[in-house]
Amino acid sequence: MTVSLPMCSVDFTDSSLSIEEQAIADRIEELRAHLGDELLILGHHYQRDSIVMHADFLGDSFMLSQMAADSKAKYIVFCGVHFMAESADILTGEDQYVVLPNMRAGCSMADMATLSEVEVAWQEILESAELEDPIHRPDPTALAGQDDRFLVPVTYMNSSADLKDFVGRHGGIVCTSSNAVGVLNWAFERAGTNGAVLFFPDQHLGRNTGHAMGISTDLMPTWVPKMGAVGEVKGSRIILWHGFCSVHKRFTVAQIDEFRNQHSDGLVVVHPECPIETVMASDANGSTQYIRNYVAQQVPGSKIAIGTEINMVARLAEEHPDKHIECLDDEICPCSTMYMIHPAYLMDVLERIVDGEIPNQITVPSSIQEGSLLALERMLSIKK
Ligand code: SF4
Repeated sequence: MTVSLPMCSVDFTDSSLSIEEQAIADRIEELRAHLGDELLILGHHYQRDSIVMHADFLGDSFMLSQMAADSKAKYIVFCGVHFMAESADILTGEDQYVVLPNMRAGCSMADMATLSEVEVAWQEILESAELEDPIHRPDPTALAGQDDRFLVPVTYMNSSADLKDFVGRHGGIVCTSSNAVGVLNWAFERAGTNGAVLFFPDQHLGRNTGHAMGISTDLMPTWVPKMGAVGEVKGSRIILWHGFCSVHKRFTVAQIDEFRNQHSDGLVVVHPECPIETVMASDANGSTQYIRNYVAQQVPGSKIAIGTEINMVARLAEEHPDKHIECLDDEICPCSTMYMIHPAYLMDVLERIVDGEIPNQITVPSSIQEGSLLALERMLSIKK
C-alpha cells in the first residue's frame, strides 16, 4: 500500500531556537544524514516543532501506522507515544527496529484499559447481554447471519498491544479517529442486527461515532472497570469503556459559546475524543488529519477555534497566517506524554544507533504478535 504523506521541509536554521537548541538540531541532522535511508523518523501531529522539523513524515496514528507498514528502513524512530511504537513494531519486519526516544512517553487513555479488566468485562457482558463470542466460530470475522448475535470487540489505536491481540483473536478490529465509522460498520456486519460492539478505551470516540451513525445514546451504556455497566447492556448496540483523553475532555460547550460571542461568524472544529456535548455544539469534528484539511479549506479571513492539542493548533496558525486560528481552551497544556519526546532524547537515540546500539527498542512479544497483527491489518483494510 502506498500513501501520499506530507514530507517535512523545514529550515533547520530556525532563529527561534536558542544556541543550545540549534546545536542539538544541527547534530540530529548530521546523524540523520549519516544513517541515510536506513533511518525513518515518524512524527505525530502533537509533537513540538523542534521534533517535527526532523521528521521524515508527519501524520496521525492511522497515517503513521501505514507509513511504518510500508517502510523498508532498518531503524524507525517513532516520535509519538508507546502504543504507536508498539503498532509500528507489529507492522514491520523482523529485521527492522522500532525505537521510542523516551520510554516514559505513554498515553494516559491507553492505560485506562488493561487486559485483565477487559477480560472480566468481556465475560460479564457476554452473559448479561446473552451474546456469543466470535472466537468460537470457524471464521471469527465471517458476516453475521440473520439470527446471529455476537459481541465484537473494537479497540481504539490508543491501547496496548495485548488488547489488540485480544481483539484480533476474538474476531475484532482496531480503529482510529480517521476510520471509526467504517470500522463500526465492519463490526456491526459481523455482530448481527441483534449483536453489539464492546468499544475501548475511549468512551467519547465510541459515543460520538455511534451518534453520528444514528445510534441513540440510550443504546450505548458505559462499562466502568471494577464497577460494571452504567445503563442497560442487554439489547444495547455499543458498550463504551469508561476511558478518556485528559487533553480533549477539557474542551467544553461554554468555551464554544464564548468564542461565538466574540466571533459570530467563527467556526469551531474539534477532535471526536471530546465529550459529545462539545462535538454536537461544534461545526465539525474529525481526526487530526481531518482538522488540518478542514482548516486548509476555509477561505482567507476565516476565524476558527480548534479543540485539540496545542502544538498542532499553534502549527496550523503559523501555516495559515491569512486566517485567525485559536485554541478553544486558551489555558490548555500540551499532551504531557507526547511532550516527553525532547530533541535531546532524539539526538541521544540517534547517536547510539550510529554507535551500533539499538536503544529504547519497542518489541512486542511474539505470543501476542499474531492476534494484534490481524486486528491492525483489518484496520488498515478499512477506508475512511
Ligand atoms: S492526546 Fe490524549 S489520547 Fe493522545 S496521546 Fe495524549 S493523552 Fe493519549
